[in-house]
Amino acid sequence: MGQLDGTVAVITGGASGMGLASAQRFVAEDARVVIADLNVEAGERAVAELGSAARFIRCDVSVEADVASTVSLAVEAFGRLDVMFNNAGIGGAFGPITEIDVDDWDATFGVLVRSVFLGTKYAARVMIEQGDGGSIINTASVAGQSGGNGPQAYSAAKAAVINLSQTTALELAAHHIRVNAICPGLIFTPLMHAGDEAHAEGLMRELQPWPERGEGSDIAGAALWLAGPDSRFVSGESITVDGAITAA
Ligand code: NAD
Repeated sequence: MGQLDGTVAVITGGASGMGLASAQRFVAEDARVVIADLNVEAGERAVAELGSAARFIRCDVSVEADVASTVSLAVEAFGRLDVMFNNAGIGGAFGPITEIDVDDWDATFGVLVRSVFLGTKYAARVMIEQGDGGSIINTASVAGQSGGNGPQAYSAAKAAVINLSQTTALELAAHHIRVNAICPGLIFTPLMHAGDEAHAEGLMRELQPWPERGEGSDIAGAALWLAGPDSRFVSGESITVDGAITAA
């Protein structure tokens, strides 16, 4: 029996990168998983490989109706919801602060922060009604821990995710619903390398003490622990998975 036998999870951004690695790991541990993503082709390909334990739904995590439908699908398809992994993300607005367009700024916060609010809102409603707790996992970033690790909108949004994880951990503790953030460093995914793998490898060698690159499976391991019973008393925490970048 796998570590997540009987567990139903929603993973946003589950069609790629660390979300996909987590979906694969969760299903290997006997969970049933709903992958929610904007990328229909990749999402459908993922669930075809994962089999009957997985469903895909096209979802824009910044749109309330989409997130509500995603949570509903988990309950309709698998009967309950135990784990909400709010993970989808984008790099967002780039450039000098004097030049950033307000719509780009707002869109970045929509995908990175409103998504976590909405995922928490709808998942917690189901978990509270079920009455037997749950685990909400939010992908933040080392960029949210200090100003030096990312662009302005992205970093500020990820700082908001860390704080929102703490406030909701406090609010939901009485319901045995745990809320934690994962703060990845440089993880080798399409978002990180953006098609230029040589540049990404160079960046890692420059910034990261650990000799090998971080993979989506490294985040999946942390998410598995946060999803399962071994982290029963862990809530309001940020877990850094960064090959010692922020140890300096
Ligand atoms: P990725 O690009 O491989 O995967 C992100 C997924 O999110 C994609 O499948 C994409 O289609 C989906 N997505 C984007 N916008 C969406 C939206 N509005 N609605 C639904 N789905 C949407 O990237 P990844 O590196 O696996 O990123 C996962 C999370 O990790 C993100 O929150 C990212 O900010 C965070 N993160 C990544 C790194 C890194 O180095 N890769 C570091 C720190 C934090």
